[in-house]
Amino acid sequence: MIIGGGIVGSSIAYHLTLAGCRNVVILEREAHQGKGSTGKSMGGVRAQFSTESSIRMSLYSIPFFRDFEQIVGYPSGYRPQGYLLLATEERHLNYLRANHKLQTALGLATARIVTRDEILALVPQLRADDIIGGSFCSTDGFVDPYSVMTGFSLRAVDQGATIEREAPVTSIDIDAQGVAAVCSLRGKISTRMVVNASGAWSAQTAKMAGLDLPVEPLRRMLVPTEPFDKISHDAPMTIDLSTGWHFRPEGLGLLMAWADPEEKPGFNTNFDRAFIEKILTRGVHRVPVLEEAEVNPSRAWAGLYEMTPDHHPILGAAPGIGGFFLASGFSGHGVMHSPATGKILADLILKGSTDLMDARLLDYARFAEGREIHESAVF
Ligand SMILES: Cc1cc2nc3c(=O)[nH]c(=O)nc-3n(C[C@H](O)[C@H](O)[C@H](O)COP(=O)(O)OP(=O)(O)OC[C@H]3O[C@@H](n4cnc5c(N)ncnc54)[C@H](O)[C@@H]3O)c2cc1C
Repeated sequence: MIIGGGIVGSSIAYHLTLAGCRNVVILEREAHQGKGSTGKSMGGVRAQFSTESSIRMSLYSIPFFRDFEQIVGYPSGYRPQGYLLLATEERHLNYLRANHKLQTALGLATARIVTRDEILALVPQLRADDIIGGSFCSTDGFVDPYSVMTGFSLRAVDQGATIEREAPVTSIDIDAQGVAAVCSLRGKISTRMVVNASGAWSAQTAKMAGLDLPVEPLRRMLVPTEPFDKISHDAPMTIDLSTGWHFRPEGLGLLMAWADPEEKPGFNTNFDRAFIEKILTRGVHRVPVLEEAEVNPSRAWAGLYEMTPDHHPILGAAPGIGGFFLASGFSGHGVMHSPATGKILADLILKGSTDLMDARLLDYARFAEGREIHESAVF
């Protein structure tokens, strides 16, 4: 039983049914899948992280997106246009160099440290007088999150899974052995195995099983421009480390993001029009030609990141509650890490271990045991 039919629940259902499970059920609260964070995502996929677990999850996931149509039978929309990270301070460049060293040691061959001239060759419209270098990975890029979610869930259904929509889970029965049943508005289903893949709502779902899960919702806003051709539509996702502002091509225009430090945890998903000036100020500072771009506030949107204290997901068995598994807290990386998450959860549920990575790095117990792993490459 999987609670939540977003990209993560769908990938878990796909990987479980691929491994031969035939009794997999997804319970999704909404009438349509993708109404949670998945349908709001920017779709960025990258391997340029600073920690082993994030890099390993990307090393599994990005080739999976590349070959998605062959493997799953549906398109992922993967566009390997790269991620370009810009450093304006020596400490940022040292950070990129250290990350690059770890990425290379773990087997990433397509990332490199780049000079200002190389950066300008990739995105000539950048104001580069203060840029001292950066890093670029050509296999990073973007996917279509809705398409990936749909592919995973359609294939999971082909392989025997069932999806119940308009089935909000309201309680979880626990007995001496652990999970015993899940109750949704569509009825009660007996089960000894439940995966909590309910995204930004995972703490509420965990509470139903008596577990405190440190996952907090945090609003994230995205601003698209109207059609704009003064920047190439082949440009990479470009991140200004001095402010955190970033953009990528989307449709005929650009899509811009920036993490407002004033944002407070909560379920608010209203788009705040005052954000447009904040984001454009940072954008024009780095890409002056953006002064000429038009923004229609009614096309901008907001969704929820699902934050954990160390910006890493919480994966695997919940301690003390037999059969209760966790797959949430992606802290803004749940789309790009969805293939690895599905594989890891299927392995842990069916075999108790996984070869993909050391799953203990991401277990629930790390918070109590002081093993948090801080990922600073969060934008
Ligand atoms: C603006 C924005 C930009 C982002 N950009 C990126 C990016 O570039 N790259 C990236 O990798 N990630 C990005 N993310 C993060 C990414 O979207 C999420 O990490 C990912 O979608 C999480 O997937 P999920 O399936 O866990 O959650 P969701 O898609 O939220 O799915 C959870 C599902 O659980 C359901 N649910 C909740 N409670 C219940 C219940 N009680 N009963 C039944 N169902 C329930 C919900 O309806 C929902 O469908 C972004 C997020 C936002 C908001």
